[in-house]
Amino acid sequence: MTATALPANKRFAFTIVDDTDDTFLENIRPVYDFLTEQRVFITKTVWVYPPRDAASRGDSLQNREYLNYVLDLKRRGFEIALHNVGSGHYTRAEILAGLEEYRDLLGEYPKIHINHSYNPDNIYSGNKRFGFPFNRILRVLYPRYRDFSGEEEGSPYFWGDAHKRIIRFNRNYEFDEINLLKVNPESPYRDRRYLRYSNYWFSAAFAPNPWCFDRLFTRPAIDRLEREGGICIAYTHLGYYTRTGELDRGFVEAIRYLVSKGTGLFVPVSDLLELLLKARGSDCYLGPARKLKLEFLHLLTRAKYRYVRRIDDRAFKRVYP
Ligand SMILES: [Zn+2]
Repeated sequence: MTATALPANKRFAFTIVDDTDDTFLENIRPVYDFLTEQRVFITKTVWVYPPRDAASRGDSLQNREYLNYVLDLKRRGFEIALHNVGSGHYTRAEILAGLEEYRDLLGEYPKIHINHSYNPDNIYSGNKRFGFPFNRILRVLYPRYRDFSGEEEGSPYFWGDAHKRIIRFNRNYEFDEINLLKVNPESPYRDRRYLRYSNYWFSAAFAPNPWCFDRLFTRPAIDRLEREGGICIAYTHLGYYTRTGELDRGFVEAIRYLVSKGTGLFVPVSDLLELLLKARGSDCYLGPARKLKLEFLHLLTRAKYRYVRRIDDRAFKRVYP
């Protein structure tokens, strides 16, 4: 179930889910032009509409120039995916119209959707991500991280039916480990609690900003990924990688080193997940004990980078607001 998913001449796989928060044409172009030059094809999420809430910024498909660049990325071989139709409150009618507009503009529906922050239309989000006891703990620690109802019929933000029909993969947990096969080899898996309005779920390596990314993707870590025949899906915000005025050096070095191996597969997230599904042959369900363990590891990762390492997005945005 490990390297068997990969083509015969490849020993490991690496890809990225790029969260579109704080992404503008100017700060994203150098990143994707570099990735194109390295032939590392990843998955970029987009918003159909501009952010409505004060907390978020970023370009959307309504910006012609940005849209043209996104279309160009698609032609180059990058995958485009959804990060809700926009940041903030969008009603069912707006979300359904947004999905159609997405298809009109990009030529097809997204295969991946990633829940954005505090959007009320998020799917199985907030404390629904966790079972007992973590859902209770979360309610105390993050009282605002709740009231998501994208999958609740009757909610003004309900779009679970369209989500089930269109979206094939969602990301849930993130870990302090680059080899997905070591921590969540079931990915992409089905979760019985989320079956009604979602399909497959996958996990990712927690690398929300260049500080975390550079710390995780050292040469020894990349050597290990290759040695283990690993699969890596990093979750990050590439909009943060040009904050100093030039492309983050650690990122450039890590990508160059990954490519220099000559044995890596660098395809978008959906392509990689399809390979894993095909190699496995049948659906994998995440059982309660495994789910509990992954929930614990996810929360442990969050706590470690917030309170011990102090390089998560809260810390990063204090320096680069
Ligand atoms: Zn986001």
